[in-house]
Amino acid sequence: MDTSDSRLVIVSNRLPVVLKKEGPRWTASSGSGGLVTALSPILRKRNGLWIGWPGVTDRAAAKIDPVLARTEEGFCYKSVALTAEELSLYYHGFSNEVLWPLFHDLQTQCNFHPDYWQAYLSVNAKFADTIQENIEEDDMLWIQDYQLMMAGRQLRDMGLDQEIAFFLHIPFPPLDLFLKLPWRMEILHGLLSYDLIGFQTQRDLHNFLHCVRSILEDVEIEAADSVHTALVHGRKVRIGAFPISIDFNEFAGTAEKPQVQERTAEIQKSMNTERIVLGVDRLDYTKGIPQRLAAFKIALERYPELRGKMSLVQVVVPSREHIPKYRQLKKEIERLVSEVNGRYTQPGWVPIHYMFRSLEREELLAYYQAADIALITPLKDGMNLVAKEYCAVNLSETGVLILSEFAGAAQQLKKGALLVNPYDVASVAGALHQAYEMELPERQRRMQDLRREIRKEDIFVWADSFVKALYVNDVAESPAVWTQDKNVPAGERLSQKPFQIAPLFGPAYHRAAQKSPS
Ligand code: UDP
Repeated sequence: MDTSDSRLVIVSNRLPVVLKKEGPRWTASSGSGGLVTALSPILRKRNGLWIGWPGVTDRAAAKIDPVLARTEEGFCYKSVALTAEELSLYYHGFSNEVLWPLFHDLQTQCNFHPDYWQAYLSVNAKFADTIQENIEEDDMLWIQDYQLMMAGRQLRDMGLDQEIAFFLHIPFPPLDLFLKLPWRMEILHGLLSYDLIGFQTQRDLHNFLHCVRSILEDVEIEAADSVHTALVHGRKVRIGAFPISIDFNEFAGTAEKPQVQERTAEIQKSMNTERIVLGVDRLDYTKGIPQRLAAFKIALERYPELRGKMSLVQVVVPSREHIPKYRQLKKEIERLVSEVNGRYTQPGWVPIHYMFRSLEREELLAYYQAADIALITPLKDGMNLVAKEYCAVNLSETGVLILSEFAGAAQQLKKGALLVNPYDVASVAGALHQAYEMELPERQRRMQDLRREIRKEDIFVWADSFVKALYVNDVAESPAVWTQDKNVPAGERLSQKPFQIAPLFGPAYHRAAQKSPS
């Protein structure tokens, strides 16, 4: 089958549209995230379709499809209607109380409620129904992220044999953690129903292959330099790492605008400090905000020369506040901020400037540009785009990036950044001191290196390479963007030979698992 012209269908939990209700009328405009920016040109070229939940619950959703048809994107949207209960159990429940913490290595935050799994399956089936109703014979399908890991399996059960790709935007956990998931077999089988699976980094790819080899029988893995192949009952599943990125030129171009430059200067002047350190995160326990505040406090304690000279601007974007854990986290952050400020504030100088709100695009870019040091220390992160955006906007090429080694971005940015273990708060304090003291030539060399790396592999390279891998369906012809990183420490590298790990569970387990109700 010649697939080179076939239509591309993207499926994500949430449609990238902003809906507004003015009186009885709904209006829709396009969202502004990196994903939609990267995929829009491809979707336009391929006369594409984007399927997802529109962001309103079912009663309003009935009125949404005609509104979506009126957006002028050059491609179409189709909504999946969800009830408030489905959202609560599938999205807030299974996706965000099970998969999100577990896949970020935070097992103690998990709530393995059995009802969540049932809802996850039925909502994935609902997505599969909408896909089947709207798909045409030669369409290529690309399903996004952890909320929809089982949709491919449901489509196969309906008899669909089209090429289906899947990309996981969050990390994939190591075996020991993945084993805790009560539905580990189902999730692995679900993922292996796709034809192409993309992960953010070699770390995630390695974890996934290790889980497959250890947990499943009858799956053979052919390791390769770039895209690996799993043979699942005669089917070939290609599996690779495709690190997502940002629209570098758009960020750098916006930062050059006179109003952004003026705002940058205003921020620098009003802060009244020698060095501005910046943290920007959604309110989330994976972002390591309390640990970062503790590290900043230690830096002020251990290096008195920083007092009066170095201020931290911490932007926290509100998120998932209806969940008690997130509300507790907010309180903890506020307590730590006031503790540090109470202890160290001097006339004319405040140690921590805390903002709990989302910033407008240009305002955010002005903060990036005003900052001498970015302090980005998630406990685990699929990629972390803020780290890349900070560098793209650093037109003076004098900023320092302090980055968690557990952010996906660390794999690409390890040469230019100061890598830290976010749990080791004393060493994060040390990195702050090192950044403060770093001479200009070293800062320039590191930042130039970081910007070169991000410019070279921007969001368009990511989208193009993934879509090409889906359409070309031939590993040898695929671009080399995912070629195994030769700098990865030997112990973390994938063997060129198939894994020799014996499955953890014998045939009896597999028979029992197949019988158990899903
Ligand atoms: N962001 C934003 N407004 C803000 C702060 C951040 O729109 O006030 C954006 C930021 O530009 C980035 C995204 O939020 O693109 C955060 O992405 P990241 O990968 O760092 O973390 P995530 O929130 O997806 O876990």
